[in-house]
Amino acid sequence: MSAEILNGNRLAQRIRSQIRRELKKRKFTPGLAVIQVGDDAASTLYIKHKQRDCEKVHFHSEVHRLPVETTQAALIQHIEGLNARQDIHGMLVQMPLPDTIDERAVIDTITPHKDADGLTLVNLGSLLLNRECITPCTPTGIIRLIELTGESIEGKHAVCVGRSPLVGKSVGLMLLNRNATVTYCHSRTKNLAEQTQKADILVVAIGKPEFITADMVKTGATVIDVGISYVAHHAVGDVKFDEVKKVAGFITPVPGGVGPMTRAMLLENTLKLATVSYGRQA
Ligand code: NAP
Repeated sequence: MSAEILNGNRLAQRIRSQIRRELKKRKFTPGLAVIQVGDDAASTLYIKHKQRDCEKVHFHSEVHRLPVETTQAALIQHIEGLNARQDIHGMLVQMPLPDTIDERAVIDTITPHKDADGLTLVNLGSLLLNRECITPCTPTGIIRLIELTGESIEGKHAVCVGRSPLVGKSVGLMLLNRNATVTYCHSRTKNLAEQTQKADILVVAIGKPEFITADMVKTGATVIDVGISYVAHHAVGDVKFDEVKKVAGFITPVPGGVGPMTRAMLLENTLKLATVSYGRQA
């Protein structure tokens, strides 16, 4: 048996086409601002990809590059400026920030109406309460990939390895909100394999290359590999793809799985925010 590959590139492309079609009907231009503090090479590359995605769907995008010595107060003031602008409907602050800056304080300066990453306390709190909100991009992309299997999430046992708010914790909530039974695992979990072997849906977001091996996976499981590590300049996931694909029912590749879907969900969130904003102005 060989697992069916969940192709994130293809699904993301389909989503961008849908966005272009939607935009033709709506006749406005969504605007996304990305703020970068410092010049971390990986962040610069991620931002470039985001800008290119915006071009593909004809969104307006701006990158605000601030020097590494920017103070928290100055960054907050900059965000407040963007909060006030009518032509910017979504924004995000590219992580990581310099150690001198409190990430949470910065994120929560973004008005929830412009929170393209879905990471403000208001949006995360709404996710917790299963209320309509802007949901974080990577978990939302993961749900779309799971939906691609055509199998129902309800009643399934989902195991999330990793509990960061950005990925593991939020995707667990999204699965719970869809009536999966959810187990969270993390660095203090004892007998991890015992948990992962029970998963109908296994989401792995730990950043440890090829950590999940075939013996840790239930036959026929849907395996979502979120991790990205660079080994000898190659992107490697948290799952040992070549052996796990022989036992899983569905599996995401790295690269080409969750990554492109994360970016597609950023576009969807921005379109959603712009639509609501124009609705408010109308
Ligand atoms: P993070 O904030 O560092 O969280 C890592 C999580 O993994 C923590 O909850 C940690 O547990 C857990 N963990 C670490 N070692 C473990 C082990 N041996 N066994 C079980 N759990 C373990 O990382 P993140 O932001 O969630 O990202 C995780 C990975 O996903 C990274 O490789 C990142 O690059 C990637 N990522 C990819 C995308 C994408 O779009 N493809 C988006 C975001 C992140 P504790 O809580 O106990 O410390």
